[in-house]
Amino acid sequence: MADCLFCKIARKEIPADVLYEDRLVLAFSDINPQAPVHVLIIPKAHHETLNDVSAEEQQLLGHMVLVATKMAGEKGLKEKGYRLVANCLASAGQSVFHVHFHLLGGRTFTWPPG
Ligand code: 5GP
Ligand code: ZN
Repeated sequence: MADCLFCKIARKEIPADVLYEDRLVLAFSDINPQAPVHVLIIPKAHHETLNDVSAEEQQLLGHMVLVATKMAGEKGLKEKGYRLVANCLASAGQSVFHVHFHLLGGRTFTWPPG
């Protein structure tokens, strides 16, 4: 996707604070952190929303979750706790239409979310 912000980050056309990368995914710091730790985990392949990820890609989704828990460990959150969030569509708060998980930690969160 030529114009997609996260595709551009995945292709290194836009700089980001990359924390982890492999063949399938990229993890980088959110530009506008909502907590002391705020990491985004994205697939390198473009999928607009979670609704667009097919059953064949369940391995990719599982891999993204495992990368998130690995990042949580590296950020010292495994014992403290953390939140893993995916906003799907604008009503849920999605603003970048390339699938991503938010890994948030380093403070206490309330429930239900706003
Ligand atoms: P969403 O609102 O779609 O769930 O999450 C998109 C996230 O991307 C937001 O938390 C926002 O701060 C982050 N973001 C938007 N533009 C950029 C950017 O250019 N670089 C980085 N690192 N994060 C971005
Ligand atoms: Zn994209």
